[in-house]
Amino acid sequence: MATILVTGASGFIAQQLVLDLLEEGHRVRGTVRSAAKGEALRRALAAHTERAAEIELVEADLEGDSGWREAVDGVDVVHHLASPFPMAVPRDPDELIRPARDGALRVLRAARETGVRRVVQTSSGAAVAYGVRGPLPERFTEDDWTDPTHTADCRPYVASKAIAERAAWDYVASEGQGIELTTVQPVAVLGPIRSAQVKTSVDIVARILGGKLPMLPDAGLQLVDVRDVSATHIAAMNDPATVGERYIVADGFRTLEDIARTLQNAYPDRRIPNRRMPDLLVRALALVSGDMKTIASELGKRRILASDKVRKLLGRDLIPSDDAILASAETLLQYEAV
Ligand code: NDP
Repeated sequence: MATILVTGASGFIAQQLVLDLLEEGHRVRGTVRSAAKGEALRRALAAHTERAAEIELVEADLEGDSGWREAVDGVDVVHHLASPFPMAVPRDPDELIRPARDGALRVLRAARETGVRRVVQTSSGAAVAYGVRGPLPERFTEDDWTDPTHTADCRPYVASKAIAERAAWDYVASEGQGIELTTVQPVAVLGPIRSAQVKTSVDIVARILGGKLPMLPDAGLQLVDVRDVSATHIAAMNDPATVGERYIVADGFRTLEDIARTLQNAYPDRRIPNRRMPDLLVRALALVSGDMKTIASELGKRRILASDKVRKLLGRDLIPSDDAILASAETLLQYEAV
């Protein structure tokens, strides 16, 4: 059994990964930003595992040096997931880019200094399929890279993920001294939440299910289940052939109307919006709302990322997007988070 570090252990994907690593019998250490968040995490995970009290917690912030060496020291593998993923779009992109990039470098530096070789980093589909000049390709693959300089097709979060992943590969190539890196590129992640604190990722399901979007813009997302993102991290850590590789994790594309239909079928008694918001209205609202600005930039677009490589790694198909939507809905209702 190995000792494994999960950075940003309080996050949505990280909570699933921590549970899966414990289930496999590993010892798990996690970084959190405060002791209070660590306690909340232990309490939340205690509902899912008898081993919650054993999780070792270290305080570390991506924006500071303190704690990273201690966090990494003595582990066999680092899964680096911590990165800012806020609902709001900041005015200054550096608010996201700095912690994402410098944090990834802090983790890699700590790994090199303490002799830890194996690192699996959650990047994002955001590092693959944005910053595109001209028409979108039919499919993006692991060979594609977001161009963060083309800001018309690259909001600050997207830039932060592309820049952080590039920085990690550059560091490993130039100064890594044998660090073995794999990166994972999930698209929009849904699936079961493990605590009521989970926010950004499942917000779209919470809003549609809660009837908080009166009309639905003609936009959509390629989706993936959080259990498959966790499984990819674990498969990557166990398979030396994944060193130096990227793995897109993506199932089907769903428009907001598709998501609403899936939810309405599962919850016929709820009033779920089904009317399309005219594009003109989305564009008008984009002038005053950051959320709508993001949606307006995606109107009518279909970014499709290929997932042949990860299916081969996992040796199976991915969990269907509709199951991921329904698992989010079911658990959001359980936690009264709708
Ligand atoms: P969450 O927001 O739930 O988790 C993000 C984690 O990063 C939290 O633990 C958060 O800590 C931590 N974090 C943020 N800023 C800092 C900081 N300055 N210092 C230390 N820790 C910090 O998001 P997800 O679980 O969804 O995302 C996890 C990873 O997956 C991220 O790298 C994200 O970019 C990536 N990803 C997510 C996708 C999605 O759809 N969910 C899709 C593709 C990639 P705290 O709890 O204290 O805020």
